[in-house]
Amino acid sequence: MRIITFLIFALVGPTVGASSVTSEAPVALIFDSATPLPGEVATALHQEVESIFRETGYSFHWVNRSEMKAGDSFPDLIVIRIKSTCGEIDVRPPAVSKRHAALAWAHVSEGDMLPFIEIDCARLGRMLRAAGFGDSALSQRQVMGKALGRVLAHELYHVLTGNTQHAHSGVAQPALSPAHLTTSTLTFTARELSLLTRRSYAARQTQQSAPTLSEEPVFESGR
Ligand SMILES: [Zn+2]
Repeated sequence: MRIITFLIFALVGPTVGASSVTSEAPVALIFDSATPLPGEVATALHQEVESIFRETGYSFHWVNRSEMKAGDSFPDLIVIRIKSTCGEIDVRPPAVSKRHAALAWAHVSEGDMLPFIEIDCARLGRMLRAAGFGDSALSQRQVMGKALGRVLAHELYHVLTGNTQHAHSGVAQPALSPAHLTTSTLTFTARELSLLTRRSYAARQTQQSAPTLSEEPVFESGR
């Protein structure tokens, strides 16, 4: 976790400032995972997130940390740490742990959202499997990618708006069930769309001072 924190500072630190943040540049989503996402999972994930954010003005640049080169620079970035593998829908029973019951979480420091999201893919896979989703390996990966996209969209909402509140329905509701994660479409409500203006993140980035990382999961996409 401290390594990730350093990565955030290394990339954000030199570029934070009013003159460095553009209002139209895509937000780089930097995936930090032990193994790259399978192609079908990544494709479904990208499509789902881009579909959910289509009306917001945000666009995203998808980056694998393992493929980054020295000198890479991103004016706006969010690091997504993937815990465990995201390939198949796991058949093992879920481990019992209250503290780590969340599928994903973002971090705050002194009330400010940090550009750092963690997602527990194994837990997501077990949740989907228990609900009976995914027959073939291909459909499993497509279901996983779509669900992963919705979990990520929920956390991106918190980070991009700096808003810790939840909605009564849609992507930003406090808990996403297997049905929410696999239904044909799941969108933000009008209120969240109004908060997700492209300016919200850029404006906050110019004001952000060097934070310290919270060790606690604070926002949960599902249990
Ligand atoms: Zn949340």
